[in-house]
Amino acid sequence: MKDLYRLLPEEMEELMIELGQPRYRADQILYSLYYKFPEGISEIKQLPKTFREALVDKGFTIGSTKEIHRIESKDKETTKVLLGLKDETPIESVLMQYPPKKIFGHPRSTICVSTQVGCAMGCVFCATGQMGFDRNMKAEEIVGQVIHFAKILDAKNQHVTNIVFMGMGEPLANYSETVRAVKLLTHPRGFGIGQRNITISTIGIISGIDRLADENLQIGLAISLHAPNDKLRQWLVPTAGPNSVKDLINAGQRYFLKTGRRVTFEYALIEDVNDSREIATDLAVLLKNNGSHVNLIPLNPTAGDFKRPIRKNVLEFERILYNSGVNCTVRVEKGSEISAACGQLRTDVLGKYNNKGNQN
Ligand code: SAH
Ligand code: SF4
Repeated sequence: MKDLYRLLPEEMEELMIELGQPRYRADQILYSLYYKFPEGISEIKQLPKTFREALVDKGFTIGSTKEIHRIESKDKETTKVLLGLKDETPIESVLMQYPPKKIFGHPRSTICVSTQVGCAMGCVFCATGQMGFDRNMKAEEIVGQVIHFAKILDAKNQHVTNIVFMGMGEPLANYSETVRAVKLLTHPRGFGIGQRNITISTIGIISGIDRLADENLQIGLAISLHAPNDKLRQWLVPTAGPNSVKDLINAGQRYFLKTGRRVTFEYALIEDVNDSREIATDLAVLLKNNGSHVNLIPLNPTAGDFKRPIRKNVLEFERILYNSGVNCTVRVEKGSEISAACGQLRTDVLGKYNNKGNQN
């Protein structure tokens, strides 16, 4: 099976030439894929019927995703779906909407995509980490998640404004498919979203961060730090290996110097684990003066005994960073009541579905 969503516009043109078609067929297909969201090749009405049939005969396909399960937050701003991939593997994607700033404006619509089925990094507080690693996702499967929501939004005359690679899996452990997905999503003849509207979140694979910095892309980078010292970080991220907190901060600095994009450090705040005043002060010492930004994520409790700190402690942690001159925000808690922490929905729902997404 060769999925048309996998091909970059230049590759689509090469394919058309190979198939003895005029070059403009590539744009007809691309227009259909990214503006009409067809579910099968037979729905690409811009193409002559005989050519559509020839594509199907040659084994080409369109990787439409099947929605297995959907939950919406009470305020309707967060929608989390379990999608079945072509091989029926269930994965998670989320749409987060933020009301428009202007009366007649469009909402900000951010899609959170998964890049792997499961994750091998094993972070102790993360539901995906606890389910283990199944397989890498293909670029077309990553793009397919965006297309799924783009189609839903399009029907409401809305569109995708931001994409964050913060769902299941470690994007930089699936480097080439992640970067191919970014190129498909940002190519002006592909999905066409601005590079600056994409953020990749990584647990801190340093070789991947340096490689990404050399891609000549303008995408944002978020590094999941979670601790100001190696001992604590290695407990929370057991696969952190020899990468020290200092190494990660230096890698973030190199990314900033190469791309001009400021790096965000994500910090999942866990009660009595990494939320004390002393730890906040250590973090502030580490990050002040390097222009980075900290995003505090109060824990969405999943597996284990980890708890979310009370609001007062979250604000105190933020205040200490802020007073030391560290740029800091607390992530708006969206969708916690619908298991919006990565990997949580799959874990919750898989009791009801077998691992091929069929209802038991
Ligand atoms: N693997 C990448 C991207 C996916 S996780 C990474 O770890 O960065 C995206 C973010 O969600 C990470 O910062 C991660 O630490 C955070 N996260 C995972 N589980 C969480 C939970 N239960 N509560 C709050 N944040 C969580
Ligand atoms: Fe993997 Fe990220 Fe979860 Fe860690 S936090 S287990 S890297 S998905």
